[in-house]
Amino acid sequence: ATRTGQPPREAETHCPYCALQCGMVLRDTDDGRIEVQPRQFPTNRGGLCQKGWTAADLLDHPDRLTTPLVRDPSGTLRPATWAAALDRIVDGLRTVQRAHGRDAVAVFGGGGLTNEKAYALGKFARVALRTRHIDYNGRWCMSSAAAAGLRAFGVDRGLPFPLTDLGRTDTLLLVGTNPAETMPPLMRHVTDQRARGGRLIVVDPRLTATARQADLHLQPLPGTDLAVANALLHIALTEGLIDREYVAARTEGFDAVRRTVAEYWPAEVERLSGVPVADLEATARALGTAGSAMILTARGAEQHAKGVDTVSAYVNLALALGLPGRPHSGYGCLTGQGNGQGGREHGQKSDQLPGYRKIDDPAARAHVAGVWGVDPAELPGPGVPAYQLLDSLGTPDGPRALLVFGSNPVVSAPRAARVESRLRGLDLLVVADFLRSETAELADVVLPVAQWAEEDGTMTNLEGRVLRRRALRRPPPGVRTDLTVLADLAARLDAPDPVPTGPAAGPAVDRFPTDPRVVFAELRRASAGGVADYAGVSWERIESADGVFWPCPDPDGPDSPRLFADTFPTPTGRARFHAVRHRPAAEPVCADYPLHFTTGRVLAQYQSGTQTRRVDALRRAAPHGFVELHPDLATRLGVGDGDEVRVASRRGELRAPARLSPTIRPDTVFAPFHWPGAARANSVTNDALDPVSGMPEFKICAVRVERA
Ligand code: SF4
Repeated sequence: ATRTGQPPREAETHCPYCALQCGMVLRDTDDGRIEVQPRQFPTNRGGLCQKGWTAADLLDHPDRLTTPLVRDPSGTLRPATWAAALDRIVDGLRTVQRAHGRDAVAVFGGGGLTNEKAYALGKFARVALRTRHIDYNGRWCMSSAAAAGLRAFGVDRGLPFPLTDLGRTDTLLLVGTNPAETMPPLMRHVTDQRARGGRLIVVDPRLTATARQADLHLQPLPGTDLAVANALLHIALTEGLIDREYVAARTEGFDAVRRTVAEYWPAEVERLSGVPVADLEATARALGTAGSAMILTARGAEQHAKGVDTVSAYVNLALALGLPGRPHSGYGCLTGQGNGQGGREHGQKSDQLPGYRKIDDPAARAHVAGVWGVDPAELPGPGVPAYQLLDSLGTPDGPRALLVFGSNPVVSAPRAARVESRLRGLDLLVVADFLRSETAELADVVLPVAQWAEEDGTMTNLEGRVLRRRALRRPPPGVRTDLTVLADLAARLDAPDPVPTGPAAGPAVDRFPTDPRVVFAELRRASAGGVADYAGVSWERIESADGVFWPCPDPDGPDSPRLFADTFPTPTGRARFHAVRHRPAAEPVCADYPLHFTTGRVLAQYQSGTQTRRVDALRRAAPHGFVELHPDLATRLGVGDGDEVRVASRRGELRAPARLSPTIRPDTVFAPFHWPGAARANSVTNDALDPVSGMPEFKICAVRVERA
């Protein structure tokens, strides 16, 4: 018998971590453990990385929160009943809104929340709290690629083709992505591609595990990827590699791009980026002469104050070569977080309503308000992107109360010390999580919520494929699901008066269902007709296949694994070029801060590390932060391997052991961002924002390094 006395149970589900959403089977074993087995699914094809194998370790972890915590007058977080915790939250929200208005309350979500939760959170903010202030940590993930995709193609779907197409493309260009470390099972598709004789080219300032497998590695100075892309297009033009027929028939705006890239002489770009002309030429030729070719970007190209323009430069290159819509070809973005894609489609973003609708579009407001049973005029307008929101907390014009679901901005936000001090200055901070994250440690109220294997729902992976997350067991006593928490709060906020800003119509229990299947049915109606149309996606349909690709407007019609074969969802049906120019990093190096600093991930840790730092096997594999330095730089600084070093920027510093490696440029240092405290990489990073996407410049700032 199992722990429950019932026959062994199992659930076919997906890994809780990254956007690859590897398929796995969870099994209750006789000795009370939960066993993880990979399963055949198109994205992972029977593979898992170390994080996936150990994902169930947190379900019964001793650090698991199983009771609400409320801060007492002495400043200590103490166990409390749910009623006391919810009352404290609602009292606090009412007090703040009465004194400072509806927008004095804000909500911060996460890219790991299911579609149902992301949808319910957006609705909760706008209907129950009636605040314009909601955004989420996905803003720091793929928002630059999302904005560039929208303006070029009229749609933002990470990969507009199934991942399996990677294995059949002739030339694969990866820009600022290291899937061998961040999404190892994805490399099975790359292995296929190489085995078929395909070429792999990687653009990365570090010789990463992925770059080591490449035929060609371009190692530009951080922040010069845009110039590299413009130089590649320059070469493609001068060597006659452009698909003129495609450009004429399927695109608009090429002339301005042609004139702009004419300025990007390869020799000039070599001086700027350090990438040799010969490598630029080889790359342009490999892309331009291939039968099929793909260009994929990720955070390395996107997390810049010019991230949208950088992605546009690679989209321009793909369009000029006639790639989008061609078999096994195109441009795509490798989304990072588990539901980074779905999380941005259902209303967690400050400027969007479900279905990827613009919140300032009257028709969109009318449609969604109709589904929610409220007057469109009562729906708040757009808020501000994530960092601006957090940086405004507690300021005279900013929110004074914040509810955080599934995020840990104390570790993950840029210029993190400043964000931490903003959070400390709030009248009310509420965190819903299943572990005491660094952000939860600052909260007035912490709510213990269910984990991935304890609730049903859907996720949308990096391909735009909607998947079923299935529960293996119910949450432990004392733990509630996020949907239940939102319903509980909405019901209390709806209680007879005294908040004049409460929702306008309908009993709260109907407006905030706790059954994810009911929420998904409502999400389908809300998304119908939008860019991300889920109207034809049902749980039954997902289960009858390996997921369903959006857009899928008709329950009886096909889904959309491949986009752009005949047309683009723009007003003219053509894709749009955008002429873009290189700009220096927001913070150039100088005599005081002479080195470039960049951040990233390691294989055994994930995001802010709240979860993975608590898994024994992962902690053993990657126990602490480090600073990667080139040996030549280390010699100049008098630093040996393992010496504690101090990395200082204008905003703060981190301390961690040095790790010497010839794989990084001598003018650049790297640190992973998974650790809090002294090793917190985001103490150093720059909060300069992309003007279009609101993406912070995580990937480059100026630092000095010395032995600590
Ligand atoms: Fe999980 Fe991503 Fe690893 Fe797959 S690659 S097992 S989804 S963390």
